[in-house]
Amino acid sequence: MRLPINCARLNASDLKMSMPSKCSHHAPANVAALADGILAGDRTVLAQGITLIESTAAKHRDSAAALLQRVLPHTGGALRVGLSGVPGSGKSTFIEALGLRLCQQGQRVAVLTVDPTSSRSGGSILADKTRMAGLSHHANAFIRSSPAGAWLGGVAARTREALLLCEAAGYQVVLIETVGVGQSESEVCSMTDFFLLLQMTGAGDELQGIKKGVIELADAIVVTKADGANRLRAELAQSEYNQVLSLLHPAPSIWQPQALTCSALTGEGIDAVWQLILKCKRQRTRSGVFESRRREQNVDWFRSLMQQQIIADFNLQHASQIKSVAAQVRCGQLSVALALQQLFDI
Ligand code: GDP
Repeated sequence: MRLPINCARLNASDLKMSMPSKCSHHAPANVAALADGILAGDRTVLAQGITLIESTAAKHRDSAAALLQRVLPHTGGALRVGLSGVPGSGKSTFIEALGLRLCQQGQRVAVLTVDPTSSRSGGSILADKTRMAGLSHHANAFIRSSPAGAWLGGVAARTREALLLCEAAGYQVVLIETVGVGQSESEVCSMTDFFLLLQMTGAGDELQGIKKGVIELADAIVVTKADGANRLRAELAQSEYNQVLSLLHPAPSIWQPQALTCSALTGEGIDAVWQLILKCKRQRTRSGVFESRRREQNVDWFRSLMQQQIIADFNLQHASQIKSVAAQVRCGQLSVALALQQLFDI
Protein backbone atom coordinates (compact mmCIF):
# COMPACT_ATOMS: atom_id res chain seq x y z
CA MET A 1 0.00 0.00 0.00
CA ARG A 2 1.27 3.45 -0.83
CA LEU A 3 1.43 5.75 2.12
CA PRO A 4 -0.10 9.19 1.84
CA ILE A 5 2.68 11.61 1.15
CA ASN A 6 2.56 13.29 4.54
CA CYS A 7 3.04 9.96 6.25
CA ALA A 8 5.99 9.18 4.06
CA ARG A 9 8.81 7.72 6.02
CA LEU A 10 12.27 8.23 4.68
CA ASN A 11 15.24 6.19 5.67
CA ALA A 12 18.91 7.00 5.70
CA SER A 13 19.18 5.67 2.15
CA ASP A 14 16.73 8.33 1.01
CA LEU A 15 19.18 10.89 2.23
CA LYS A 16 21.93 9.76 -0.10
CA MET A 17 20.48 11.86 -2.87
CA SER A 18 20.19 14.98 -0.85
CA MET A 19 22.96 14.84 1.71
CA PRO A 20 26.45 16.17 1.18
CA SER A 21 29.27 13.69 1.22
CA LYS A 22 31.59 16.07 3.03
CA CYS A 23 31.02 18.14 6.13
CA SER A 24 31.42 21.83 5.68
CA HIS A 25 30.87 24.91 7.76
CA HIS A 26 29.21 26.50 4.77
CA ALA A 27 25.73 25.21 4.08
CA PRO A 28 26.07 22.86 1.12
CA ALA A 29 23.85 23.41 -1.89
CA ASN A 30 21.57 20.48 -1.11
CA VAL A 31 21.00 21.81 2.41
CA ALA A 32 19.95 25.03 0.72
CA ALA A 33 17.55 23.04 -1.46
CA LEU A 34 16.13 21.30 1.61
CA ALA A 35 15.70 24.64 3.36
CA ASP A 36 14.01 26.16 0.29
CA GLY A 37 11.63 23.20 -0.01
CA ILE A 38 10.75 23.38 3.67
CA LEU A 39 10.19 27.12 3.53
CA ALA A 40 7.95 26.57 0.50
CA GLY A 41 5.85 24.22 2.66
CA ASP A 42 6.69 21.07 0.69
CA ARG A 43 5.74 18.14 2.93
CA THR A 44 8.00 15.62 1.22
CA VAL A 45 11.00 17.88 1.69
CA LEU A 46 9.94 18.56 5.28
CA ALA A 47 9.92 14.78 5.89
CA GLN A 48 13.40 14.57 4.33
CA GLY A 49 14.60 17.41 6.54
CA ILE A 50 13.31 15.65 9.66
CA THR A 51 14.99 12.43 8.54
CA LEU A 52 18.23 14.37 8.25
CA ILE A 53 18.02 15.85 11.73
CA GLU A 54 17.05 12.47 13.16
CA SER A 55 19.99 10.80 11.51
CA THR A 56 22.50 9.47 14.01
CA ALA A 57 25.23 9.31 11.36
CA ALA A 58 28.05 11.65 12.27
CA LYS A 59 28.37 12.77 8.65
CA HIS A 60 24.85 14.22 8.76
CA ARG A 61 25.33 16.34 11.89
CA ASP A 62 26.87 19.35 10.15
CA SER A 63 24.23 19.33 7.44
CA ALA A 64 21.50 19.07 10.05
CA ALA A 65 22.98 22.00 11.97
CA ALA A 66 23.29 24.01 8.75
CA LEU A 67 19.69 23.28 7.86
CA LEU A 68 18.44 24.37 11.27
CA GLN A 69 20.51 27.53 11.12
CA ARG A 70 19.01 28.39 7.74
CA VAL A 71 15.42 27.92 8.77
CA LEU A 72 15.79 29.45 12.25
CA PRO A 73 14.67 32.96 11.26
CA HIS A 74 11.41 31.44 10.02
CA THR A 75 10.57 29.55 13.20
CA GLY A 76 8.57 30.41 16.30
CA GLY A 77 5.30 31.12 14.55
CA ALA A 78 3.30 28.09 15.64
CA LEU A 79 1.27 27.43 18.72
CA ARG A 80 3.07 24.46 20.26
CA VAL A 81 0.79 22.09 22.13
CA GLY A 82 2.02 19.05 24.05
CA LEU A 83 -0.35 16.18 24.58
CA SER A 84 0.01 13.11 26.72
CA GLY A 85 -2.01 10.25 28.14
CA VAL A 86 -1.68 6.55 28.75
CA PRO A 87 -2.20 4.23 25.77
CA GLY A 88 -5.92 3.91 25.10
CA SER A 89 -6.78 7.27 26.65
CA GLY A 90 -7.91 8.50 23.26
CA LYS A 91 -4.97 10.61 22.12
CA SER A 92 -5.02 9.73 18.44
CA THR A 93 -8.81 10.00 18.20
CA PHE A 94 -8.66 13.39 19.93
CA ILE A 95 -5.84 14.67 17.71
CA GLU A 96 -7.72 13.48 14.66
CA ALA A 97 -10.89 15.31 15.74
CA LEU A 98 -9.12 18.52 16.77
CA GLY A 99 -6.66 18.44 13.89
CA LEU A 100 -9.38 17.98 11.27
CA ARG A 101 -11.41 20.79 12.80
CA LEU A 102 -8.44 23.15 12.62
CA CYS A 103 -7.51 22.03 9.10
CA GLN A 104 -11.08 22.61 7.94
CA GLN A 105 -10.82 26.13 9.32
CA GLY A 106 -7.84 26.60 7.02
CA GLN A 107 -5.08 26.17 9.58
CA ARG A 108 -2.04 24.06 8.84
CA VAL A 109 -1.48 21.44 11.53
CA ALA A 110 1.59 19.32 12.17
CA VAL A 111 1.52 16.35 14.50
CA LEU A 112 4.75 14.94 15.90
CA THR A 113 4.44 11.78 17.90
CA VAL A 114 7.18 10.75 20.25
CA ASP A 115 7.19 7.13 21.26
CA PRO A 116 9.58 6.37 24.10
CA THR A 117 8.52 2.74 24.06
CA SER A 118 9.70 2.12 20.55
CA SER A 119 13.22 1.58 19.34
CA ARG A 120 12.36 0.06 16.01
CA SER A 121 14.39 1.77 13.35
CA GLY A 122 12.51 3.57 10.67
CA GLY A 123 9.18 3.36 12.39
CA SER A 124 7.32 3.32 15.61
CA ILE A 125 4.31 1.71 17.17
CA LEU A 126 2.60 5.05 17.07
CA ALA A 127 3.14 5.18 13.33
CA ASP A 128 0.39 2.62 12.91
CA LYS A 129 -1.16 3.73 9.64
CA THR A 130 -4.65 3.36 10.97
CA ARG A 131 -4.05 6.10 13.53
CA MET A 132 -5.34 9.50 12.44
CA ALA A 133 -6.17 8.16 9.00
CA GLY A 134 -8.47 11.07 8.13
CA LEU A 135 -6.06 13.73 9.27
CA SER A 136 -3.12 12.11 7.51
CA HIS A 137 -4.93 12.53 4.19
CA HIS A 138 -5.78 16.19 4.71
CA ALA A 139 -3.77 18.58 2.59
CA ASN A 140 -3.25 20.93 5.54
CA ALA A 141 -1.83 18.27 7.84
CA PHE A 142 1.58 16.76 8.36
CA ILE A 143 2.06 13.75 10.63
CA ARG A 144 5.37 12.36 11.72
CA SER A 145 6.06 9.62 14.19
CA SER A 146 9.52 9.00 15.52
CA PRO A 147 10.93 6.18 17.57
CA ALA A 148 13.03 7.21 20.52
CA GLY A 149 15.38 4.32 20.91
CA ALA A 150 18.31 5.44 18.86
CA TRP A 151 18.43 8.96 20.14
CA LEU A 152 21.03 10.21 22.47
CA GLY A 153 19.60 12.20 25.31
CA GLY A 154 15.99 11.12 25.36
CA VAL A 155 12.94 11.40 23.25
CA ALA A 156 12.96 15.13 22.91
CA ALA A 157 16.42 15.65 21.53
CA ARG A 158 15.27 15.66 17.93
CA THR A 159 11.60 16.45 18.40
CA ARG A 160 12.42 20.04 19.21
CA GLU A 161 14.33 20.36 15.96
CA ALA A 162 11.53 18.66 14.04
CA LEU A 163 9.16 21.20 15.60
CA LEU A 164 11.30 24.04 14.28
CA LEU A 165 11.29 22.56 10.78
CA CYS A 166 7.49 22.30 10.92
CA GLU A 167 7.27 25.95 11.90
CA ALA A 168 9.59 26.90 9.06
CA ALA A 169 7.27 24.98 6.73
CA GLY A 170 4.43 27.24 7.81
CA TYR A 171 2.50 25.01 10.20
CA GLN A 172 0.49 27.22 12.54
CA VAL A 173 -0.28 24.55 15.09
CA VAL A 174 2.17 21.85 16.12
CA LEU A 175 0.78 19.08 18.29
CA ILE A 176 3.42 16.99 20.01
CA GLU A 177 2.06 13.72 21.30
CA THR A 178 3.73 11.41 23.73
CA VAL A 179 2.73 8.27 25.58
CA GLY A 180 2.22 8.76 29.29
CA VAL A 181 5.12 6.67 30.41
CA GLY A 182 8.04 8.26 32.17
CA GLN A 183 10.05 11.37 31.58
CA SER A 184 8.88 12.14 28.06
CA GLU A 185 6.08 14.34 29.46
CA SER A 186 8.44 16.77 31.11
CA GLU A 187 10.55 16.85 27.97
CA VAL A 188 7.55 17.56 25.78
CA CYS A 189 6.27 20.10 28.29
CA SER A 190 9.62 21.88 28.13
CA MET A 191 9.22 22.55 24.42
CA THR A 192 5.55 23.49 24.21
CA ASP A 193 3.36 26.49 25.04
CA PHE A 194 0.53 24.42 26.46
CA PHE A 195 0.53 20.93 27.92
CA LEU A 196 -2.60 18.86 27.77
CA LEU A 197 -3.12 15.68 29.74
CA LEU A 198 -5.74 13.28 28.42
CA GLN A 199 -7.43 10.99 30.92
CA MET A 200 -10.11 8.44 30.40
CA THR A 201 -12.47 7.38 33.12
CA GLY A 202 -11.68 3.90 34.25
CA ALA A 203 -12.90 1.48 36.84
CA GLY A 204 -12.36 2.77 40.37
CA ASP A 205 -9.82 5.34 41.38
CA GLU A 206 -9.43 7.85 38.57
CA LEU A 207 -6.11 9.07 39.80
CA GLN A 208 -4.57 5.66 39.90
CA GLY A 209 -1.61 5.18 37.66
CA ILE A 210 -1.12 8.86 36.98
CA LYS A 211 2.04 10.29 38.34
CA LYS A 212 1.50 13.38 40.43
CA GLY A 213 4.39 15.00 38.59
CA VAL A 214 2.59 14.67 35.29
CA ILE A 215 -0.57 16.29 36.66
CA GLU A 216 1.57 19.15 37.95
CA LEU A 217 2.81 19.77 34.43
CA ALA A 218 -0.66 19.92 32.90
CA ASP A 219 -2.14 23.24 31.78
CA ALA A 220 -5.40 21.36 31.34
CA ILE A 221 -6.73 17.88 31.91
CA VAL A 222 -9.19 16.58 29.39
CA VAL A 223 -11.40 13.69 30.40
CA THR A 224 -11.98 11.85 27.14
CA LYS A 225 -14.81 9.64 25.89
CA ALA A 226 -17.48 11.71 27.63
CA ASP A 227 -20.31 10.17 25.66
CA GLY A 228 -23.09 7.62 26.10
CA ALA A 229 -23.12 5.80 29.41
CA ASN A 230 -19.68 7.16 30.19
CA ARG A 231 -20.69 10.80 30.14
CA LEU A 232 -21.73 11.08 33.77
CA ARG A 233 -18.61 9.31 34.98
CA ALA A 234 -16.51 11.64 32.87
CA GLU A 235 -18.18 14.67 34.46
CA LEU A 236 -17.58 13.27 37.93
CA ALA A 237 -13.92 12.70 37.05
CA GLN A 238 -13.76 16.27 35.74
CA SER A 239 -14.86 17.70 39.08
CA GLU A 240 -12.38 15.44 40.92
CA TYR A 241 -9.58 16.67 38.69
CA ASN A 242 -10.64 20.26 39.21
CA GLN A 243 -10.32 19.76 42.96
CA VAL A 244 -6.88 18.18 42.54
CA LEU A 245 -5.76 21.01 40.27
CA SER A 246 -6.91 23.70 42.68
CA LEU A 247 -4.95 21.96 45.46
CA LEU A 248 -1.87 21.66 43.26
CA HIS A 249 -2.03 25.29 42.14
CA PRO A 250 -3.38 27.17 45.17
CA ALA A 251 -1.68 30.52 44.54
CA PRO A 252 -3.26 32.84 41.99
CA SER A 253 -1.18 32.79 38.85
CA ILE A 254 -1.36 33.87 35.24
CA TRP A 255 -2.92 30.53 34.33
CA GLN A 256 -5.05 28.29 36.52
CA PRO A 257 -5.07 24.78 35.03
CA GLN A 258 -8.49 23.25 34.73
CA ALA A 259 -10.26 20.06 33.75
CA LEU A 260 -12.68 19.63 30.85
CA THR A 261 -14.56 16.76 29.30
CA CYS A 262 -14.85 15.95 25.63
CA SER A 263 -15.88 13.27 23.21
CA ALA A 264 -13.90 12.84 20.05
CA LEU A 265 -16.66 10.53 18.89
CA THR A 266 -19.47 13.12 18.99
CA GLY A 267 -17.19 16.15 18.74
CA GLU A 268 -18.66 17.62 21.90
CA GLY A 269 -16.15 19.60 23.93
CA ILE A 270 -13.38 19.56 21.32
CA ASP A 271 -13.86 23.20 20.45
CA ALA A 272 -13.96 24.14 24.14
CA VAL A 273 -10.54 22.54 24.61
CA TRP A 274 -9.15 24.57 21.72
CA GLN A 275 -10.72 27.78 23.05
CA LEU A 276 -9.12 27.09 26.43
CA ILE A 277 -5.71 26.70 24.79
CA LEU A 278 -6.22 30.01 22.96
CA LYS A 279 -7.33 31.70 26.18
CA CYS A 280 -4.20 30.51 27.95
CA LYS A 281 -2.10 31.79 25.07
CA ARG A 282 -3.79 35.21 25.27
CA GLN A 283 -3.30 35.46 29.01
CA ARG A 284 0.34 34.40 28.87
CA THR A 285 1.04 36.70 25.93
CA ARG A 286 -0.51 39.70 27.69
CA SER A 287 1.59 39.07 30.78
CA GLY A 288 4.80 38.43 28.85
CA VAL A 289 4.97 34.86 30.17
CA PHE A 290 4.49 33.36 26.71
CA GLU A 291 7.71 34.86 25.36
CA SER A 292 9.71 34.45 28.55
CA ARG A 293 8.78 30.76 28.71
CA ARG A 294 10.04 30.25 25.19
CA ARG A 295 13.28 32.06 25.93
CA GLU A 296 13.84 29.91 29.02
CA GLN A 297 12.97 26.79 27.06
CA ASN A 298 15.70 27.70 24.57
CA VAL A 299 18.26 28.09 27.32
CA ASP A 300 17.18 24.77 28.86
CA TRP A 301 17.50 23.16 25.47
CA PHE A 302 21.00 24.57 25.02
CA ARG A 303 22.02 23.32 28.47
CA SER A 304 20.62 19.86 27.89
CA LEU A 305 22.36 19.52 24.51
CA MET A 306 25.59 20.80 26.03
CA GLN A 307 25.38 18.15 28.75
CA GLN A 308 24.75 15.45 26.18
CA GLN A 309 27.74 16.66 24.20
CA ILE A 310 29.99 16.63 27.26
CA ILE A 311 28.91 13.07 28.09
CA ALA A 312 29.35 11.90 24.49
CA ASP A 313 32.82 13.48 24.26
CA PHE A 314 33.88 12.01 27.58
CA ASN A 315 32.66 8.56 26.56
CA LEU A 316 34.55 8.81 23.31
CA GLN A 317 37.79 10.13 24.76
CA HIS A 318 37.92 7.66 27.63
CA ALA A 319 36.25 4.64 26.07
CA SER A 320 38.94 2.14 27.03
CA GLN A 321 39.33 3.39 30.63
CA ILE A 322 35.55 3.32 31.10
CA LYS A 323 35.44 -0.23 29.78
CA SER A 324 38.17 -1.47 32.08
CA VAL A 325 36.82 0.32 35.17
CA ALA A 326 33.30 -0.98 34.43
CA ALA A 327 34.70 -4.52 34.19
CA GLN A 328 36.31 -4.13 37.62
CA VAL A 329 33.04 -2.82 39.06
CA ARG A 330 31.18 -5.73 37.51
CA CYS A 331 33.35 -8.38 39.16
CA GLY A 332 33.42 -6.59 42.49
CA GLN A 333 37.10 -5.58 42.41
CA LEU A 334 36.31 -1.90 42.59
CA SER A 335 33.63 0.08 44.38
CA VAL A 336 31.57 2.48 42.34
CA ALA A 337 32.94 5.41 44.34
CA LEU A 338 36.54 4.41 43.68
CA ALA A 339 35.73 3.72 40.04
CA LEU A 340 34.49 7.26 39.64
CA GLN A 341 37.53 8.64 41.41
CA GLN A 342 39.81 6.69 39.09
CA LEU A 343 37.97 7.90 36.01
CA PHE A 344 37.90 11.55 36.95
CA ASP A 345 41.47 11.62 38.18
CA ILE A 346 42.62 10.52 34.77
P1 GDP B 1 -4.53 6.34 22.22
O1 GDP B 1 -3.86 5.00 22.42
O2 GDP B 1 -4.39 7.19 23.43
O3 GDP B 1 -4.11 7.03 20.97
O4 GDP B 1 -6.11 6.02 22.12
P2 GDP B 1 -7.05 5.91 20.83
O5 GDP B 1 -7.33 7.24 20.27
O6 GDP B 1 -6.48 4.89 19.92
O7 GDP B 1 -8.40 5.39 21.48
C1 GDP B 1 -8.48 4.18 22.22
C2 GDP B 1 -9.87 3.61 22.08
O8 GDP B 1 -10.82 4.50 22.63
C3 GDP B 1 -10.28 3.39 20.64
O9 GDP B 1 -10.97 2.17 20.55
C4 GDP B 1 -11.19 4.54 20.31
O10 GDP B 1 -12.18 4.23 19.36
C5 GDP B 1 -11.83 4.82 21.67
N1 GDP B 1 -12.19 6.25 21.76
C6 GDP B 1 -11.36 7.30 21.55
N2 GDP B 1 -12.04 8.44 21.74
C7 GDP B 1 -13.30 8.12 22.07
C8 GDP B 1 -14.48 8.89 22.39
O11 GDP B 1 -14.49 10.12 22.39
N3 GDP B 1 -15.60 8.19 22.72
C9 GDP B 1 -15.62 6.83 22.75
N4 GDP B 1 -16.75 6.25 23.09
N5 GDP B 1 -14.55 6.08 22.43
C10 GDP B 1 -13.41 6.72 22.10
